[in-house]
Amino acid sequence: MEPEWIQSIVEEVVRQLGRKEAVQKPNQVPLAVSARHVHLSEQHLAILFGQSYTLKKKSDLSQPNQFAAEETVILSGPKGTIERVRVLGPSRHLTQVEVSQTDAFKLGLTPPIRQSGDIKGSSPITIIGPKGSVYLNEGLIIAQAHIHMAPDDARRFGVEDGQYVQVRAETERPITFERVRIRVSPSYRLEMHIDTDEANSGFIRTGQTGEIISAGQTQSTCHSPVLIEEKQTIIPLFEGKLLSQHEVKQLDGPVIRVGKTTIVTPLAKDTARELGKKIEVIDE
Ligand SMILES: [Zn+2]
Repeated sequence: MEPEWIQSIVEEVVRQLGRKEAVQKPNQVPLAVSARHVHLSEQHLAILFGQSYTLKKKSDLSQPNQFAAEETVILSGPKGTIERVRVLGPSRHLTQVEVSQTDAFKLGLTPPIRQSGDIKGSSPITIIGPKGSVYLNEGLIIAQAHIHMAPDDARRFGVEDGQYVQVRAETERPITFERVRIRVSPSYRLEMHIDTDEANSGFIRTGQTGEIISAGQTQSTCHSPVLIEEKQTIIPLFEGKLLSQHEVKQLDGPVIRVGKTTIVTPLAKDTARELGKKIEVIDE
């Protein structure tokens, strides 16, 4: 067997094992780091690489039917250029360029953070290929961190398409991603995509996992008063082993939450009743 063959088989096995382990633990999602890349429309592909040009597949990406092409382009902005930027296939309806904030500084451009496909009003960018160049009025974005998942995964996590969640990565430099968008489609495979800046800030490499630690709000209810109200009524759990009359008098608020294992003295119960406070026992 050719060494490259063995290498790729080993990598695939490791990848599958990692995936299995990730789905066995509840709320775990495999992390993948997206480097800067370009999606091209048929029209722009023809301008950059020549009429009737077909992209050559270099390697498959984790999402079904998506691939990294052999072809690369040069990105150019007012302050600088970035060479050898990977083209991803297949062609799309609209050309879109995804970079990190660090890349944007180098180019001298200010792309917005957007979900893939949402390029209206985004940053202009010049793309240079071997046969020509294209100036786009819009199309340069910084990708919003997101998790691809199938409907089954969404049910398991109790989340829906378009919702934002928090994801914690326990690495050497632990990090929590606050606004991670859920993207659900039957054609998706479970994976969270972050850019190189996000990965670097948390010492993350592709293949590691993160944990969904809380489900946020959907975009449509971003400023919903219901959610704000919910936040205000969160009451901390009393963590002592014994809840006595003394604690009942001291603790603020109409509700005292205790764990199942905390002993509540009869006098504490009487005092709570007298003061109009409710003692709530929580399953920890
Ligand atoms: Zn993605």
